[in-house]
Amino acid sequence: TDNKITVLVPGRMHPRVLERLAQAFDLLQTPVGFEMQLTDEQRARIRGVATTNKMPADWIDQLPNAEVIANFGVGYDGVDARHAATKGVLVTNTPDVLNDEVADTTIGLLLNTIRRLPLAETYLREGRWEKEGPFPLTPLSLKNRHVGLLGLGRIGLEIAKRLEPFKVKLSYHTRTPRKDVSYTYASSAVELAKSVDTLISIIPATPETHKIINAEVLAALGPNGVFINVGRGTSVDEEALETALRQGTIAAAGLDVFYDEPKIPAGFFDLPTLCMLPHVASASVPTRNDMADLVVDNLIKWFSEKQLLTAVPETPVTT
Ligand code: NDP
Repeated sequence: TDNKITVLVPGRMHPRVLERLAQAFDLLQTPVGFEMQLTDEQRARIRGVATTNKMPADWIDQLPNAEVIANFGVGYDGVDARHAATKGVLVTNTPDVLNDEVADTTIGLLLNTIRRLPLAETYLREGRWEKEGPFPLTPLSLKNRHVGLLGLGRIGLEIAKRLEPFKVKLSYHTRTPRKDVSYTYASSAVELAKSVDTLISIIPATPETHKIINAEVLAALGPNGVFINVGRGTSVDEEALETALRQGTIAAAGLDVFYDEPKIPAGFFDLPTLCMLPHVASASVPTRNDMADLVVDNLIKWFSEKQLLTAVPETPVTT
């Protein structure tokens, strides 16, 4: 390990990342809960980091010779990329390789929420079909819906493309309108919610998007409204969402992400109009392998060629 570059992995990491890092680098792994318990000698040796969305400013400050932080995931809200940039530390993420998987899962969650397919399967498995007769008709249908995308970036655009053959109407809101789409633009989240009956959130966690889905947006969505979140849980005021579902302010919701996951608000569990997944939108073996490879390939590219494959916008380098 004498002349190998030291790369730190604080906490949990995909096994393929660990395996490939161990081949190319001197891998320093620290366990969950003890992430930054390092000796001065270890801290000084570390030049690269691979993390699953956790690298706050005070951790970055502990690594005087860090050059690059490679994040496992396209969302890097747990990595203080702005603080890293002020110290000349580069940050990469894993865009594009997960677009198709996340978009496919979103369509699945949308249909499961509207047609209650998970509840229908539970009904069958509990033997109720034979005893009680057919599963109750679902009040909602995807037919004739008007879907609004909050966020129309790499993943949002793939969701929109998949929705076109479903013959729904499509609108969207982003801060900057896109010039390359014909979907109707709405000037804010509330304006979007007013104009549609189905809202899909696929925006990053930022100070601006914190609880952007609030009581006002849900009221604007209306009693036939369906809300789907595959972006980040911090975008949602969960108390307002629970109230909206209980009072029929909206009809149904489907969530893959939560405000303080894996903690789920106690009141969510008995809501039949709420469909929930444990943050699995990109969680297939092939897609997670592609993400793992991109994490390692960024580190290898940096330490062999001083270039990055997928730097985040805050990072002051061109790729
Ligand atoms: P992109 O950066 O390509 O797209 C982000 C979109 O959000 C853009 O259209 C952007 O438009 C819009 N946006 C950003 N800030 C705001 C704002 N304040 N108001 C309105 N719109 C905003 O990201 P990706 O599509 O690659 O990923 C999106 C997010 O999805 C990730 O950051 C991640 O958090 C989440 N994600 C969740 C997964 C899961 O497992 N559930 C898997 C993968 C990603 P503009 O800049 O013009 O506002």
